[in-house]
Amino acid sequence: MPNDLPNETPNEEENLILDSIHRWLEKDVVPYAHDLEQADEYPYAMVEQMKELGLFGATIAPEYGGLGLSASTYAKIVSAVAEVWMSLSGIFNSHLIMARCVQSSGTEAQKQEWLPKFASGELRGGIGLTEPDAGTDLQGIRCAAVKDGDYYVINGAKSWITNSLEGHVIGLLVKTDPKAVPPRKGMSMFIAKKGEGFNVTRKLKKLGYRGIDTAEISFEDYRIHKDCLIGGEEGRGFYNAVGGLELGRINVAARGVGVARAALKHATAYSQQRKTFGKPICEHQAIQLKLGEMATRTEAARLLVEQAARAFDRGERCDMEAGMAKYFATEAAAKNADESMRIHGAYGYSCEYDVERLYRDAPLMIIGEGTNEMQRIIIARQLIERNPI
Ligand SMILES: Cc1cc2nc3c(=O)[nH]c(=O)nc-3n(C[C@H](O)[C@H](O)[C@H](O)COP(=O)(O)OP(=O)(O)OC[C@H]3O[C@@H](n4cnc5c(N)ncnc54)[C@H](O)[C@@H]3O)c2cc1C
Repeated sequence: MPNDLPNETPNEEENLILDSIHRWLEKDVVPYAHDLEQADEYPYAMVEQMKELGLFGATIAPEYGGLGLSASTYAKIVSAVAEVWMSLSGIFNSHLIMARCVQSSGTEAQKQEWLPKFASGELRGGIGLTEPDAGTDLQGIRCAAVKDGDYYVINGAKSWITNSLEGHVIGLLVKTDPKAVPPRKGMSMFIAKKGEGFNVTRKLKKLGYRGIDTAEISFEDYRIHKDCLIGGEEGRGFYNAVGGLELGRINVAARGVGVARAALKHATAYSQQRKTFGKPICEHQAIQLKLGEMATRTEAARLLVEQAARAFDRGERCDMEAGMAKYFATEAAAKNADESMRIHGAYGYSCEYDVERLYRDAPLMIIGEGTNEMQRIIIARQLIERNPI
């Protein structure tokens, strides 16, 4: 497994971008995030600011109007945003997974048509894989597209699709040959823009990840032109979807680092203010043990994300590295949120403080982009494949 972390060189462009993101977060997000999250309100003004910052084109190639950032820089941006408000990162993360499918598997005409509009944020969206009866087992989806001249007619349902209410387009995974064996060979992905027959039926109420829209969609004789079939060839959809998930996992892992860091930051500050038995609680050994573990976990998670992002940037196969980063960083987020709540005592349970939000936000990352059960299975399979006897 490559490990070039000690040779990290400062990158001026990366520092400039990260500086502008930090300034924006401090000025335009920190003061408003708490109230928007509690009210489950979509952050329209922040979306406009994200357009100006170029976040919707962060990983899209410059020739298509994006910033063309490396996964390493992108992961740092995601962590910084998630440290302040995790939901906000989802608005551009899921969008960029869709863009990645087009950029890596689309035809040149598709890239020219869609990517500049994705990069500017004029068209925003996400990825439509999950259905009411199929999540982890993607080959079990039932949403189907039937060819009709130059069009396909799509019928079926998708569930848990982030950015589908406020967005305009989704990368839609369907079956074009429901009888194919194995089923993945009969799956295709479309760039599906909202129109007649594309119905967002219900915004879902969630434990956390509030503010951002996650919804159910039903397709009723939704007609889509064959030019919207990614890559112009049927049967590639499963591979398009799985290909996008490597960057997606680095994304979610980076969010985990942000949430783990936020939980640690709040705990470090609070433990110096709160006194029991005549001294700040940070002087009690039981609290010190928690802080020590939380800090180590956060740093280990950051390093794993960095390692996975660098492997991705080198163009190496990195499902094992991305899986390790996703698994460890998201569990770190959940554990740190729990410990931070314990350190805050009753105040950790109060909706006036951010710790309870971190506690509600963290579990999503354990489930999304491949559950952590699946990550460990992927890691183990790769371990065996890379170390045959
Ligand atoms: C807030 C939120 C936002 C989401 N946004 C999106 C989105 O934008 N687009 C999208 O397509 N989806 C989205 N999802 C769906 C998400 O990707 C799925 O929930 C996830 O893939 C898991 O699928 P599932 O919920 O159907 O669980 P299931 O697949 O039913 O799994 C249930 C349990 O069984 C375990 N399991 C399943 N198979 C195995 C196995 N072979 N071995 C061991 N354990 C196994 C799982 O790990 C899990 O613990 C979102 C979900 C949430 C909660």
